[in-house]
Amino acid sequence: MSQHFLLSAKARTLSLAKVARMSDDEARETFKQIRWSASNGEPSCPQCGCFGVNEYKARPVFKCKACDHQFSVTSGTIFAGRKLPLRTLLLATAIFVNGAKGHSALQLSRDLDVQYKTAFVLSHKLREAIAAEKAEATVSGEVAVDGAYFGGYVKPSNYKENRRDRRLAKNQNGKRRVVIIAREKGGKTITHVFNSEAAGVAKIASVIELGSTVHADEAAHWDALHDRFLTKRINHEWAYSDEGACTNDAESFFSRIRRAEVGIHHHIAGPYLAAYAAEMAWREDNRRVSNGEQYLIAVDAALAHPVSRQWKGYWQRAA
Ligand SMILES: [Zn+2]
Repeated sequence: MSQHFLLSAKARTLSLAKVARMSDDEARETFKQIRWSASNGEPSCPQCGCFGVNEYKARPVFKCKACDHQFSVTSGTIFAGRKLPLRTLLLATAIFVNGAKGHSALQLSRDLDVQYKTAFVLSHKLREAIAAEKAEATVSGEVAVDGAYFGGYVKPSNYKENRRDRRLAKNQNGKRRVVIIAREKGGKTITHVFNSEAAGVAKIASVIELGSTVHADEAAHWDALHDRFLTKRINHEWAYSDEGACTNDAESFFSRIRRAEVGIHHHIAGPYLAAYAAEMAWREDNRRVSNGEQYLIAVDAALAHPVSRQWKGYWQRAA
């Protein structure tokens, strides 16, 4: 088993400036090294797994000797059907992962000089790919759970006599959702979106391994966790950390996602809330990895992730 390309000295020195100056061939070689890192960059057929592959001279396409399947370095991955040069995809990923609060599609379209629609879909494909590694993930050890509500903002009426109590369900617009996280101390962060915090308790409990110690606030619905886990509770009204019970890890995550909401995306509620929450979890988990490595991890995730059912051909369907 050879060393993974991402861990090699060559990968670690692949700065954004170098990517920007890459030739098409160099960008393609980088994609090959990342996608087929197990075989030192040697392509294998995505259809039959065979390593007997011919490379066309004139076109950047491979053909399998065994089954005649033709494929490119991005076929069958989240980047499939791309119209952008490979170098632009590397740059896009590097820019996307850069910055703790995330990057808006509008800004990305300006950075890359591509259409907004292109940048929008590309950003969502990257979100899908980086979130996928945690689809089956669980957390263990010391785990903080907490929820925070997003969206469903109802503007108060101008005149006081017309104002309604916006805390009441009948005066809300039904768009409010809660992001619940389960965060392992010193480890990974898992996020899910529900209509209410109480509605998410069972799902969140299912991603926490037995034997873990769970830290939660005083909300009554978390009582259900006591049956399965050693549970430490904290009353947020007077502290975030008390006698070993602590949800600071959860709080720091939510402050990151709030900053992204206010500073970058403005509205991260609605149908994409789960995707943004997963992106922020990825950023949180990788915050100590250098920027230079983060984007290669993201490219690796993108090339390991199949074609997106949600985002491939999105604008053609929407049109
Ligand atoms: Zn084949």
